[in-house]
Order: sequence, then structure tokens, then C-alpha cells
Amino acid sequence: MEPLIVDIPATTTRSFVVTLPVDGATLDLEDLRFPAPGTVTVDVSPVREGFLLTGELEMSVELECSRCLEPVLWSVREQFRIVLARDAMGDEGEDEWVLFPRGEHEYDLSPLVRELVVVALPAKPLCSDGCAGICPICGTDRNRAPCRCADGEGDPRWAALRSLGFDQPCEGEVYDGTSEEEDIEEPT
Ligand SMILES: [Zn+2]
Ligand SMILES: [Zn+2]
Repeated sequence: MEPLIVDIPATTTRSFVVTLPVDGATLDLEDLRFPAPGTVTVDVSPVREGFLLTGELEMSVELECSRCLEPVLWSVREQFRIVLARDAMGDEGEDEWVLFPRGEHEYDLSPLVRELVVVALPAKPLCSDGCAGICPICGTDRNRAPCRCADGEGDPRWAALRSLGFDQPCEGEVYDGTSEEEDIEEPT
């Protein structure tokens, strides 16, 4: 549980770069799963007002496809600029200003990182743009097997046939991004 602390000695007169590992478990984002640690890289530069922090967060978050509920790995890559002001806050321009009084030398990046992750998340994650989703009528994952409910022919016998392996779904297979619909011949 490493805190995301950037240590900025008061004697800093040259810019330096810090790279910190980001353990998603420390971010208080309990709804989210982080399959691997991320990184945050920060360039700390002394400026007239205090220090300018410019950096980038890179992190992977595991979400659920909003249509088919399969896991979706979402890459977060967000840049940021913050001015740590020694006393007076500057005018609100492009940069975010944070008061960082003289005598302080540790800046905790956790709130910022948390915010960057939350802002970067899509409202409706999709495993692919063409995800066909789960049929609300028969429950079939339509990425794996087509169903005919959308044709207005929601005959539950089709679902029964599929469940018997009529159209064998590939277990555990990740949807590969193609979106061809398989056609099932209508019985005559
Ligand atoms: Zn999906
Ligand atoms: Zn269906």
C-alpha cells in the first residue's frame, strides 16, 4: 500500500522526474478492478509561484461491457498539470492550482489519480463497437450465437435448440472484434 507521495525538497532548484507505481487498491475505488499496477510519471519544475507538476497517468481498469457483460480492459492514459503554489493562488488558467505552503515537501497524488481514473471511464463501456449484446428476450449472448428474437419471431424453441448445442457457443472465447452476423436458414 504505497502512498502516492511526491517528495519535493524545499531546496529544489532544478526540475526532476519521478515515476511511481499506482496500486489501484489504494484509490478507494471499490467498484473497479485493476488487473495490474499502473504508473504515474511526474515532472516537477520549480517556478516562480512554487512548483509546476506535469505528468501522465497510465493504468488499466477492468470494466464490464454494458451490453454483453463480458470483461473489458480499459486503458487510462491521462495527462495533468498542477501548480503547487507557495502562497498566493494564481489566476485560474489552464492549470489547476493547489496551495502548497512553505515547509511542506510531500504532495499526495492519490486524490488527483482517483479523479483522473474516474473521469477517464466511459459511461457505457463496450467490448467492441459492434457488440451485439445479450438478448433481453432469450438471454443469448448474441456475439456468440445469433437469435431471432429481434426479428419478431421470438420462438422460445430456438433458444431451446441453441441450449442443446444447435449453435455451439465458444466457451471462454474473447470476442474478436468482427461483427458478421451468422445467418440461420429459416426452416420451411
Ligand atoms: Zn460486449
Ligand atoms: Zn433472443
